[in-house]
Amino acid sequence: MAGERFLPAYVGLGSNLDDPAGQLRRALASLAGLPATRLLCASSFYRSPPLGPASQPDYLNAVAGLLTTLPPLELLAALQAIETAQGRRRDGERWGPRTLDLDLLLHGGARLASAALTLPHPGLRERAFVLVPLAEIAPGLRLPDGALVARLAGAVDAAGLQRLAA
Ligand code: ATP
Ligand code: CA
Ligand code: CA
Repeated sequence: MAGERFLPAYVGLGSNLDDPAGQLRRALASLAGLPATRLLCASSFYRSPPLGPASQPDYLNAVAGLLTTLPPLELLAALQAIETAQGRRRDGERWGPRTLDLDLLLHGGARLASAALTLPHPGLRERAFVLVPLAEIAPGLRLPDGALVARLAGAVDAAGLQRLAA
């Protein structure tokens, strides 16, 4: 719509069920098809050990960079619709295995602190499987507080994180 501004947004993708690489590829295709949104870039896929209960498969993770005029809550709803379309069930334990997890990491310079949507995503600063792929596509990006993504990614413990060949 005229006058609406495209803002950069970054989405963290994760899957550890039902062909994770296929899940991430389908999710990227769905992100590319979102209304009022352009998929600009996506990181490599990374394999990482699970964050929660250890008795589950490793994750594949990636980060996508978008330009969008969707406001943060509308983009989050669209991400949740993609999760649901790919068989995400919401009755499991926290951080349990899932076909697809799409976290909204950053939306422009927004800072929000509600249960429905916290921005930047609360795990962003400490998770290697988010920071390393984010730094691959946007090393010069700064968080709303000024922290440089490349610096955060360089400081995080990335042992266990493995970048997969494209
Ligand atoms: P984590 O958020 O620690 O990575 P998770 O991804 O497993 O854990 P979910 O079960 O996918 O958590 O999401 C729980 C709720 O988190 C969602 O219903 C959503 O409303 C809320 N939420 C808050 N902030 C965000 C955000 N930035 N991105 C995605 N969901 C968010
Ligand atoms: Ca998550
Ligand atoms: Ca999530």
